[in-house]
Amino acid sequence: MLRQRRQSLPRPIADIRLDGGRLCLDFVNTIHDRYGLEIEDYLRKPQRFLEWCVHAGALHPDDSVRAPRAAHQRAALMREVESLRDHLHALFAARVDDLRAPADAVRGLDRWVHLAWAGQSLGADGHLHWRKDVRDARLPLKRIALDALDLLGCTPAWHLRRCANTSSCGWLFLDTSKNQRRRWCAMETCGTADKIQRYRHGSRERRARRAPWQAT
Ligand SMILES: [Zn+2]
Repeated sequence: MLRQRRQSLPRPIADIRLDGGRLCLDFVNTIHDRYGLEIEDYLRKPQRFLEWCVHAGALHPDDSVRAPRAAHQRAALMREVESLRDHLHALFAARVDDLRAPADAVRGLDRWVHLAWAGQSLGADGHLHWRKDVRDARLPLKRIALDALDLLGCTPAWHLRRCANTSSCGWLFLDTSKNQRRRWCAMETCGTADKIQRYRHGSRERRARRAPWQAT
């Protein structure tokens, strides 16, 4: 299916929903309507990527990270953002669908995890700290990779779900509900849309059932 990128004005970063329940899932969910005909990529530019990272908690105010200025560095950063996001989506989707993880996605995450470990040093306080020389625009990708590693290693597969709106949404989320029956990324969005659709479908069926009687 040929999909297009939506060209309308980008939505404000503050309005972007964080329904995944984990940083790495929210990162994967920065593609809006992944299965729709027209997708919206929330992170189209380095500045938007960094703003989203602050919004989602992948960057902290004291990180003092700025977007690169040189065009080739900006393009390289966005390629890395898209590549890690694609790899993580492939890994989580395989987990949801109970399939073997694609080898290139495993290698992709492995690379970022090693970059993340190499960027930290043990402090006198017994905690790992990010070295000053790695506090650049790729720092949030390293945090996201570590979060993904933790999620894949520690979370039972059945906690990981895909929104039931697979005709367009396709967002992934961690189901921490008591009864483990969460179906939607959010009730206010996909859940409500489904209710409306079912109501309309029901109305059509009711009209169709009435038609023979009305005709007499
Ligand atoms: Zn959804």
